[in-house]
Amino acid sequence: TRSEHLFEEAKKYIPGGVNSPVRAYKSVQGTPPFISWADGAHVYDVDGNDYIDYVGSWGPMILGHRHPQVMDALRKALDNGTSFGAPTEIEIEMARLLTDAVPSIEMVRMVNSGTEATMGAIRVARGYTGRDKIIKFNGCYHGHADYLLVRAGSGATTFGTPDSKGVPADFARNTITLPYNNLEAVRETLTREKGTIAAVILEPVVGNMGVVPPRSGFLQGLRELCTQHDTILIFDEVMTGFRVAWGGAQSLYGITPDMTCLGKIIGGGLPVGAYGGRRDIMEQIAPIGPVYQAGTLSGNPLAITAGLKTLQILGRPGTYELLEEHSQYLEAEGKKIAARHTADVSFTRVGSMFCLFFFNGDITDYETAQQCDTGKFNRYFHAMLDQGVYLAPSQFEVGFMSLAHSEEDIDKTLKAMDKAFGKQ
Ligand code: PMP
Repeated sequence: TRSEHLFEEAKKYIPGGVNSPVRAYKSVQGTPPFISWADGAHVYDVDGNDYIDYVGSWGPMILGHRHPQVMDALRKALDNGTSFGAPTEIEIEMARLLTDAVPSIEMVRMVNSGTEATMGAIRVARGYTGRDKIIKFNGCYHGHADYLLVRAGSGATTFGTPDSKGVPADFARNTITLPYNNLEAVRETLTREKGTIAAVILEPVVGNMGVVPPRSGFLQGLRELCTQHDTILIFDEVMTGFRVAWGGAQSLYGITPDMTCLGKIIGGGLPVGAYGGRRDIMEQIAPIGPVYQAGTLSGNPLAITAGLKTLQILGRPGTYELLEEHSQYLEAEGKKIAARHTADVSFTRVGSMFCLFFFNGDITDYETAQQCDTGKFNRYFHAMLDQGVYLAPSQFEVGFMSLAHSEEDIDKTLKAMDKAFGKQ
């Protein structure tokens, strides 16, 4: 196929043939389709195959691809020039919309990716508190900053060892990793490390080990512990922001973090991230405060235009209801189909984020997620791809429903599921 040919060519010049590792299909094996264009809920590859897309560029495409109003706005913005490195009016509009939609964000800084957002937020939290250490949770991904590529090898409360070569052990030393959904571990660590923890950062609904929702009381407990220890609570809502609800997981669960990281949807498919939070914390940032953070392309007019238009459309009445209705339908019917074939799967969903764990039981943290049968997932994945359903190529990634998915798309997906299970 042409994809196979291109993959071989790409591998000559680009490590693994891809510009981000999971795209290479290493864990599921085979050749990733090279995409030539996309429209609505569908992506099309260079061999002319048509796929129903549940990757959605890993989250941003909640309206579907090539939404006509987003495309129009982009064309107009393009006519004015692509980058000025100077303040523009739409940056105010974006900041207003974000502070309005996410009340815990009183001030916000735009950056170019989710990675930059978490780096910025943690630097400010450290600057504000004058402390160095942070707590993160096993299985939560917060971008590829050195000190965040740490999941901890052994035991709950050990200091981190880096997950990646090239990360100095010294950089990982200030990162303490704990099991997700384990409030006791956080309480014990904050007490033991009294006065040294700048921030606790987490995905309020985890989307980087499949979908793992917070246990009842977990987020509330973190909120109380952080307040008690003068530690900054950072919600990394790069994936969940505007995805699980307008206003993100914090509005869904009614918890107010001190800081929030955003990305994906707020860029409408262009490279954008943002971090924001309490005014007194955000006022620590240069040029008004001592914490430095900058970006040549930050607030880029094309990226802000795409993001702003996407959010304006998403903010219309009925959008989240439709996403919920379609996602719920996929879940309900998908569960029935799965149950007809096997007892060893669990369908997990929060809003329009979903995943199918090949494991019979509750997945509550990284440790339980590791028990999934990835061999079964891989066979399922390829059976779905062969039938034109484009899922993320990993048991530990999630599916995203968009507003462009029709009932017909979902019914086709369900039929494909039935066949894919039949082949297990
Ligand atoms: N945080 C979370 C929760 C994410 O899911 C991701 C990316 N999937 C990031 C941060 C990093 O974002 P980016 O890839 O835009 O750097």
